[in-house]
Amino acid sequence: HHAERSTVWVGPASHQVPIGPETFTFIAGPCAVETAEQTIEAARMAQGAGATILRGGAFKPRTSPYAFQGLGVKGLEILADVREATGMPIVTEVVDARDVAVVAEFADMLQIGTRNAANFGLLQKVGEAGKPVLLKRGMTATIEEWLMAAEYIAQSGNLDIVLCERGIRTFEPSTRNTLDISAIPVVQATSHLPIIVDPSHAGGRKDLVVPLSKAAIGVGADGVIVDVHPNPEEALCDGPQALLGNDLRELAQAVRRLPAAV
Ligand code: PEP
Repeated sequence: HHAERSTVWVGPASHQVPIGPETFTFIAGPCAVETAEQTIEAARMAQGAGATILRGGAFKPRTSPYAFQGLGVKGLEILADVREATGMPIVTEVVDARDVAVVAEFADMLQIGTRNAANFGLLQKVGEAGKPVLLKRGMTATIEEWLMAAEYIAQSGNLDIVLCERGIRTFEPSTRNTLDISAIPVVQATSHLPIIVDPSHAGGRKDLVVPLSKAAIGVGADGVIVDVHPNPEEALCDGPQALLGNDLRELAQAVRRLPAAV
């Protein structure tokens, strides 16, 4: 392991949540913010399962331009209301350099998605926004390229960066991406940055979320970020990978056995 690994603190001073080597941080929420009701319900499910940070996409980077693109600023407002109601800090993606300021105004942590992981101008702007950054691995990025993307954020002096392994593109079609579980110890050997796993976007299937989360725990990741939805069949984005019911309870149990967040 890298001699001294960092902890990144997320959220307002009154209730900051750590991501780092001392704890296992459970982040959960809807893939996309669709309505106020769906978001608060998903947040309550997440919090009930032990999640301490809420995820939710307001600006969605969809493969098809005809797919739901997210609610934009309206989605950010919903997330802020849900933070108020639950006390959970929020992480949400910024897909365009023109939106960095408005997303930073609402969010506690800015997410860079896999499709923008080599968008160097966006990485620099997000670094300058002064909020913690969640940097997904590019789906075709080597670990070296991923760490260099983090350097673009760090250039502005912002070292509050959390890496997220979310699967890479391989020849295997039975999962959406192939979770590169070895990336976690490999990164930890060379980088001080916290690293978490997204088992939802890695597998693209809800039956894989619990086993991949257990793999993340086993290999020493600093947390997981998981999609939950109160009604996955009606989800506007990635319904098949959203967790609820027994699966969410099983994940909650696996996470509860770990050292609690301080
Ligand atoms: C997401 O987390 O909402 C997302 C789109 O993930 P990724 O960029 O890893 O596909």
